Amino acid sequence: MDIAQVINKYRECGQKITPQRLAVLKALEGDRSHPTAAAVVEKVHRDNPYISPATVYRVLNELAAMGEIQSLALKDGTTRFDPNAEDHAHLLCERCGRIDDVPWTVTAGALPGSLSMGYRLNSVQVIFRGVCPRCQGESVTPAGL
Ligand SMILES: [Zn+2]
Ligand SMILES: [Zn+2]
Repeated sequence: MDIAQVINKYRECGQKITPQRLAVLKALEGDRSHPTAAAVVEKVHRDNPYISPATVYRVLNELAAMGEIQSLALKDGTTRFDPNAEDHAHLLCERCGRIDDVPWTVTAGALPGSLSMGYRLNSVQVIFRGVCPRCQGESVTPAGL
């Protein structure tokens, strides 16, 4: 996600760059942690405590719909946001919830036409689930110490 590019896109659609939109863009810029909406709200509130969580959620969904950020819906019902809009896969730690980017690309076109059951494909998300190195380290600590 490139802030200048997103601003241009908003302008092309006749939309204003509100301070709220700018604050969310700044909170997301360069964030590799794949934050939840609540974490983005917290970050926005550091500099802009007057912006309501509902507004932050609205801007996040707006940016996802524009294709400027990815949203990852996880099995536990949480959604994580990712300003890295390039095609990439994810590693998810099922213990601590850490998500890392993997420069490994599978595009929607990878599915052979014979298997796509007539669907017109728009996107694909790949999430490898497992246990991160840090959590693996914790798991080898003998219990009861
Ligand atoms: Zn972990
Ligand atoms: Zn990512």
